[in-house]
Amino acid sequence: QAKSFGKGRYVLFNQEMYEQHLKVSQLDSDLHYALERKEFELYYQPIISLASEQLAGFEALIRWHHPKRGLVSPSDFIPIAEETGLIIAIGDWVLNQACRQMHIWQNKYASAKNLKMSINLTCQQIREKDLIDKLDRVLAEIAIDGINLRLEITESSMMDQGEETIAKLEQLRARNIQLSIDDFGQGYSSLSYLHRFPVNTLKIDRTFVDQMISGGQNLEIIRTIIILAHALNMDVVAEGVETQQQVVMLKQLGCEFAQGYFFSRPLTATAAEQIIAGSSE
Ligand code: C2E
Ligand code: MG
Ligand code: MG
Ligand code: MG
Repeated sequence: QAKSFGKGRYVLFNQEMYEQHLKVSQLDSDLHYALERKEFELYYQPIISLASEQLAGFEALIRWHHPKRGLVSPSDFIPIAEETGLIIAIGDWVLNQACRQMHIWQNKYASAKNLKMSINLTCQQIREKDLIDKLDRVLAEIAIDGINLRLEITESSMMDQGEETIAKLEQLRARNIQLSIDDFGQGYSSLSYLHRFPVNTLKIDRTFVDQMISGGQNLEIIRTIIILAHALNMDVVAEGVETQQQVVMLKQLGCEFAQGYFFSRPLTATAAEQIIAGSSE
């Protein structure tokens, strides 16, 4: 009996694996056409300065409007794109689109001059030989300043990199391009290593923020990350802020910036523009 139960599970497991495999390979082949079919869109989530409660910038978040599946989440297709190498072409599109959008807003609204546009980069994108030249070309073509651009790299992909990458990141600094470590606390980082990277900002992973109110260790972890960041001359963005109570506590802890549904969900360009227009009154 136990044997047949085991056998049944085995078949079920295989079926699931098969379906997962099918889904991934379908997404993979559809992904190849998504750029030329213009199926991607950038959403923009406001990042708020906690001291002034003013808009400090946006994080650009990609959305894929799949013709059959509807909206596909980046967590479902970015890892596939990273594996197949398509991430380079998609990343180029994101960089261009986000910078263009920022340029448009800066021309229209005086208050947009100091906003920062945050863009996510994967491991492969950082490793790319061409990265710095590409950034130079985009900044020159679109005429925005390095200071308005902020690149987000996850903790684990940062720690993966060697000396060559540190040199590359130094070149970002020379262009005033800002650097954030995304999902901080989630991965594994060597603290003795952290100060060697020219990082401006730590973004506290939202799993800590999520549970900070219920007490326990998360509050202490957040407190420690903020102290660490400040000791290394970095500022802090709390991700996934959903309640007023979290805002109050983060302010007390000295966290500079927050991002999350409490302030706003990621917005279309049109909706994001209304926020800028409102903030310049
Ligand atoms: P991330 O960079 O950590 O982005 C933050 C994610 O948290 C976003 O998910 C955002 O919608 C979500 N979020 C923001 N506030 C809240 C909140 O209050 N509560 C909750 N529950 N979630 C919140 P999204 O847009 O689905 O993106 C997922 C991940 O996909 C991103 O995580 C990033 O790693 C990656 N990604 C998104 N866009 C791009 C892109 O253009 N390029 C690359 N390379 N990766 C991207
Ligand atoms: Mg991010
Ligand atoms: Mg994050
Ligand atoms: Mg994340």
